[in-house]
Amino acid sequence: MAKRDYYEILGVQKGATEAEIKKAYRQQALKYHPDKNPDNKEAEEKFKEAAEAYEVLSDSQKRARYDRYGHAGMGGASGGGYSGHGMTVEDIFNQFGDIFGDFGGFGGFGFGGSRSRSSRRVNKGSNLRVKVSLTLEEIANGVEKKIKVSKYVACKTCNGSGARGSDGYVTCSTCGGAGQVTRVTNTLLGQMQTASVCPQCNGDGKIVKDRCVDCHGEGIVKDEEVISINIPAGVGEGMQLSVTGKGNAARRGGVNGDLLVLIEEKKHPELVRDGNDLLYYLNLSFPKAALGTTVEIPTVDGKVKIRIEPGTQPGKILRLRGKGLPEVNGYGRGDLLATVNVWIPKKLTKEEQKQLEKMDESENFVPDPDSMERGFFERIRSYFE
Ligand SMILES: [Zn+2]
Ligand SMILES: [Zn+2]
Repeated sequence: MAKRDYYEILGVQKGATEAEIKKAYRQQALKYHPDKNPDNKEAEEKFKEAAEAYEVLSDSQKRARYDRYGHAGMGGASGGGYSGHGMTVEDIFNQFGDIFGDFGGFGGFGFGGSRSRSSRRVNKGSNLRVKVSLTLEEIANGVEKKIKVSKYVACKTCNGSGARGSDGYVTCSTCGGAGQVTRVTNTLLGQMQTASVCPQCNGDGKIVKDRCVDCHGEGIVKDEEVISINIPAGVGEGMQLSVTGKGNAARRGGVNGDLLVLIEEKKHPELVRDGNDLLYYLNLSFPKAALGTTVEIPTVDGKVKIRIEPGTQPGKILRLRGKGLPEVNGYGRGDLLATVNVWIPKKLTKEEQKQLEKMDESENFVPDPDSMERGFFERIRSYFE
């Protein structure tokens, strides 16, 4: 069967933005979510199809290749880790589960949290997502941020068990406390044993008989917590850090979800980030560029003084080595590139006008194309190619 177009699957235009694609995928995924469509093969296929489309379209490299070559560009040796074919529903949750996290509201039990359909025996709390806005200075040095989040935590009254008192629950009779049941099926290859979560106790191994009054038997309650997050130097806009175990607590004892921290960059008043380099636009007056001077340049570690040679041309790039941002892996650091602009006055007094006219008669003022600076143009060329 011919594959459907990925854009068509998600119902977006070819030029759709990342946000539009994400939104469209979430809509599709919710519509065909296996929890909403139990035992519906067609919905499951649609769910997988949408995940495959999203896997490609949410990755700029894969998307570019798909735009160029269509489905033919996706398979085989050049695929580079493309795993869309044959993804199981479980794979999809492992890969994109976070995307469902937002749905339950802030810290709600979204999809992808404590799912019971897998063979996982341990409940897992859902992931929490927070955004952290950082200045370039904070990014340059790394920073510890304290964030107050509203989340589910284990109920203190019942220690997360959901039961009132230590005899508030009984061992599950269906699974005998194991939390899973095994089923033996006959196949061509012989008998196969499959384990699945016990439907009676949802994998807990015990059943709450007398519920804790504070958490109504859930074992978790909503609370606020101040979480301190160590953000390493060199992170960038859109990066996501994961703090294991700092997400929502799981119902009735289990593993906490994770806290996912999305990094946002605050605009710097004077510096622009380009990868790990920082760009600065250095305005000089015409006389200072001609005579030479000393200027102060802002960096993420404060101002530094640099010498401007007499006869500095507009477009010259002054490279301050190591004054950029560190690599997030800790190896190496970018540079700060200050591009010289020579400011030409827009208003002149009569006297200045006369002086300039006189200068213009000197042959020193005839432009010499060979001594013009091209570094800036070389650098920005890559943006247009
Ligand atoms: Zn409780
Ligand atoms: Zn059971």
